Amino acid sequence: MVTRPEIRLFEHGFVRLDGAMASDLSVVNSARVSFAKRRETMEESDRGLIGFLMRDRHGTPFEHNAFRFHVRCPLFVAREWFRHRIGSFNEESARYHRLEADFYVPEAADVRSQVGKPGAYTFEPAAPALAEEVRADLARQYTEAYALYERLLERGLAKELARCVLPMGTFTQFYWTVNARSLMNFLSLRAADTAQLEIRRYAEALETIFAEVMPVTYDAWLANGRVAP
Ligand SMILES: Cc1cc2nc3c(=O)[nH]c(=O)nc-3n(C[C@H](O)[C@H](O)[C@H](O)COP(=O)(O)OP(=O)(O)OC[C@H]3O[C@@H](n4cnc5c(N)ncnc54)[C@H](O)[C@@H]3O)c2cc1C
Repeated sequence: MVTRPEIRLFEHGFVRLDGAMASDLSVVNSARVSFAKRRETMEESDRGLIGFLMRDRHGTPFEHNAFRFHVRCPLFVAREWFRHRIGSFNEESARYHRLEADFYVPEAADVRSQVGKPGAYTFEPAAPALAEEVRADLARQYTEAYALYERLLERGLAKELARCVLPMGTFTQFYWTVNARSLMNFLSLRAADTAQLEIRRYAEALETIFAEVMPVTYDAWLANGRVAP
């Protein structure tokens, strides 16, 4: 079973490979079963086979593996993440469990303005003074929101209703199990310049794990222009 130490992201977040049943060899053997052939170890020609499968969009041999990630991220990142339907999720419940007071405050360098029009936005760093003001405003708002959350709980309100006052910057956590084909699709969309910076940081962390666990598949995906088969 492949596991990795957690990669910390932002003040309260992380990505951790909780387990993997994944290898380049699984791709090779899934493809070679067409000819009733099986290998015990990778050979040089298998690199070419994986490149061919990637290039010619024979995607199914990349599905016979699984990565199980444990992720802690702000709710707005999770909301984008959960749009990826090919995979399985289980998330911390704010109906059954009191959420912790952990909130996303961007580093000053990540506070940005949005310039341009839909489809062609650029994001420009905010002036340092504005960045600090925004960080302070966010922190104050989070503190007030959490204080109200606690007051509602103390007055007996159900957690499922009290959570309504918590902001999108609240941290959540979940497990995500995904195969390599779907993971490559996720990375092509979410580790791209067009993705929101915060989910991009998570995708970049996943990409380093993917590259370690399936190096030949990863190289083939890069050679294919980061397009999933
Ligand atoms: C930069 C960016 C901006 C975005 N903006 C918006 C937005 O403004 N509003 C919004 O609603 N969403 C937005 N999204 C989300 C986007 O539309 C997708 O829902 C998300 O990226 C998941 O992609 P996916 O469908 O390829 O992944 P998955 O759901 O994991 O699907 C993987 C692949 O399986 C196939 N597949 C899955 N389900 C079906 C199906 N029902 N029919 C046919 N094929 C299927 C497709 O080939 C798909 O690519 C945005 C995404 C990005 C990256």
